[in-house]
Amino acid sequence: MSTGKYAVVIGAGFGGLALAIRLQAAGIQTTVLEKRDKPGGRAYVYEDRGFVFDAGPTVITDPSALEELFTSSGRRLADYVELLPVSPFYRLCWEDGSRFDYVNDQTLLDSQIRSRNPADVDGYRRFLDYSRAVFEAGYLKLGSVPFLTFDRMVMAAPQLVRLQAWRSVYGMVSSFIEDDKLRQAFSFHSLLVGGNPFATSSIYALIHALERRWGIWFPRGGTGALVRALVQLFEELGGRLELNAPVARLTAEGRRLSAAICTDGRRFPADVVASNADVVHTYRELLGQHERGRREGRRLAGKRFSMSLFVVYFGLKRQHPHLQHHTVCFGPRYRGLIEEIFKGTGLAEDFSLYLHAPCITDPSLAPPGCSGFYVLAPVPHLGRAAIDWAQEGARYRDRILAYLERHYIPNLRQDLVTCRIFTPLNFRDELNAHLGSAFSLEPTLTQSAWFRPHNRDDEIANLYIVGAGTHPGAGLPGVVGSAKATAGLMIEELAG
Ligand SMILES: Cc1cc2nc3c(=O)[nH]c(=O)nc-3n(C[C@H](O)[C@H](O)[C@H](O)COP(=O)(O)OP(=O)(O)OC[C@H]3O[C@@H](n4cnc5c(N)ncnc54)[C@H](O)[C@@H]3O)c2cc1C
Repeated sequence: MSTGKYAVVIGAGFGGLALAIRLQAAGIQTTVLEKRDKPGGRAYVYEDRGFVFDAGPTVITDPSALEELFTSSGRRLADYVELLPVSPFYRLCWEDGSRFDYVNDQTLLDSQIRSRNPADVDGYRRFLDYSRAVFEAGYLKLGSVPFLTFDRMVMAAPQLVRLQAWRSVYGMVSSFIEDDKLRQAFSFHSLLVGGNPFATSSIYALIHALERRWGIWFPRGGTGALVRALVQLFEELGGRLELNAPVARLTAEGRRLSAAICTDGRRFPADVVASNADVVHTYRELLGQHERGRREGRRLAGKRFSMSLFVVYFGLKRQHPHLQHHTVCFGPRYRGLIEEIFKGTGLAEDFSLYLHAPCITDPSLAPPGCSGFYVLAPVPHLGRAAIDWAQEGARYRDRILAYLERHYIPNLRQDLVTCRIFTPLNFRDELNAHLGSAFSLEPTLTQSAWFRPHNRDDEIANLYIVGAGTHPGAGLPGVVGSAKATAGLMIEELAG
């Protein structure tokens, strides 16, 4: 049933698409305007010589949030895409040859923990209890409700105090677990949403409980298949997706937006506008002609942004069944390296890597007998380190591939069929990401919940924000949760 109202969503990332589905399902005629030639945002897909590379998210957690998105539109996720379970969740490897298979099987987990340090079996149990308590309070109760007023923050304060949210993830893990490598194994998760484990609030320890609760999944056909499922659902509901449609500015009449204007001059009138684009870009560029845009853009540009990433996508003419789907390759340093990435001014000589080997779960992502991968290294964002990525990119790629060849994938360089890189400059230029940050505002306690840009702008009544830059934050569960929070506000406004 149509409400006769029009919405424009800027950006076809997971947050933008999930929001657009909810709006369209509520009878609001919704157009998504996407700058690039394909939807997905950070979940873009590259195809090269028969290899299919998911550009970004590969660890799919909380499938229930995706299922709920489909059921709220009267459909079933399973009719659109098949989610395959991944086990182990991750294989964690260190340079001294030790490794840890992070699995959901408690007995297997306990035996691996015991072999490192028997006392940590009990410590881990207590950490899991803590993680579950934060997960209940922070994710299940507050993960998809908007924090528009400070009152809500005040209401959440006793919980935050009880859960000692002022402590860091690493500090909290270390209060339960003694072994150095196990401390790394249970604290690196905040990096997956752009948070420094030594600085980000221990509330982000909830990721562990979230993974244990619902497992880790991978769509058959890759994350791109999930993006296609969202687009299909949106279009079946009657929504319109415009690709190659970069928005140049938003026009306002007083304190209300009236339309989005693309760089080619096309004008899309709207009763409500939601931006899934980077928050600094949204305010500073798209609303640059409005006083609110300039002021808020300046304020947000002064915030702390998460690190960037350097990613190498590569295809090999051989298969490597000895690998696992997800591998974390810890380098020689943990704290020192992370401090350099978040606080240093250059590129560290060592690195820690995440290696994605999707053909382990779905061999169809590469030609027969071949295998596709990506490897990423967290690196400082562009505001921190003066690295000339145009020069450094090829050198850094070669160092990473040589390292992988030495430790994980024999003959890698000899077997290369295809290879491409994505640097902080690409995050900045292709995704309009402020400082080339991979995850938007850094998830610290003072940049979370009410302190994060709100799901609805405080001054422009019909401007909404969705995606990694707003509450609750980055990661697929975060941005899908933000879409639910933002949709609720938009539907309420248009109904009222
Ligand atoms: C390499 C990498 C690996 C990751 N791995 C995981 C993982 O395994 N699991 C997980 O849960 N999360 C992961 N993440 C995080 C997750 O991918 C992101 O937090 C999430 O996808 C961000 O979604 P979003 O809705 O904020 O939009 P984005 O994906 O940031 O999309 C925003 C869209 O807006 C468009 N846009 C920008 N400006 C304009 C404009 N002016 N006009 C029109 N369109 C515009 C962009 O082109 C883009 O398509 C990963 C991120 C990266 C970078």
